[in-house]
Amino acid sequence: MPRTLTDGIQWIQGCIPRPGLTADYVADPPDWYEPDREVHTCQNAYLVTGDRTLLFDTLSPANRDHVLAELDHALGGRDLDYLVVSHPEAPHAGNAFAILDAHPEATLVAPAHGNEHELYHLGDADRVAPGDTIDLGGKRVEFLQPLFLDHAMHIWLRETTTGTFFPVDWLGFPHMAGECLTVVEELDHEVTVDQLLAFHGRVFFWYQYADVAKTNGVVEELADRHAEDIVAPAHGLPITVDADRFIRRMATVVEHVNERGRLDVFG
Ligand SMILES: [Zn+2]
Ligand SMILES: [Zn+2]
Repeated sequence: MPRTLTDGIQWIQGCIPRPGLTADYVADPPDWYEPDREVHTCQNAYLVTGDRTLLFDTLSPANRDHVLAELDHALGGRDLDYLVVSHPEAPHAGNAFAILDAHPEATLVAPAHGNEHELYHLGDADRVAPGDTIDLGGKRVEFLQPLFLDHAMHIWLRETTTGTFFPVDWLGFPHMAGECLTVVEELDHEVTVDQLLAFHGRVFFWYQYADVAKTNGVVEELADRHAEDIVAPAHGLPITVDADRFIRRMATVVEHVNERGRLDVFG
């Protein structure tokens, strides 16, 4: 079942067991690791419901049946008005066609910047740029420039009435089986730098080449800007309290990758 994150925002999660990561941690377990449980990475999609509804991202084709069923639960019989894909990559856009087939009334929305992406037919979508908004009636989303992006055609989102920030592909981290659909503040441990490194040390490998002061200036800017927000990442658990303190932890992640280089690919 989807989880209500805050008023009018529901969280749909698809977890992927990572046996390679689990094995990595057996020999030298970090604080957050629980023996005898699997390590999960996850993909998240979020449904924003005002007078109209908007789904942000689609999960990957491997989770197709799951996301279609979860979306039906979350909609509770309502129409889907907008389907927004953050960027043309399987974990984010891979079920766009399946969702549009199930909800032909929905308008497909995609980032304006970048070339048409034939795989997902995003050229046919309504195209949005940073600063654009969609009024859902009681809820309003604003599209943001992604400051740590994964793709040339990529957009972040913020719901302005609840102050919920969706930084797709940044602020990811694995969790343990049993912690699915849990927000950070409900965990019985801190989300450690090591846990954030498991994601960013691979996906943001370019931190090793980056100017640390400059990069962490952006981390600081995002911490200030979203200090009061709920943070709802695409590949981690949401942060509902003290987002600035959490975001500032990313400065240490940048320093670590810069000093020690990238991590191996996911097992
Ligand atoms: Zn992603
Ligand atoms: Zn999980």
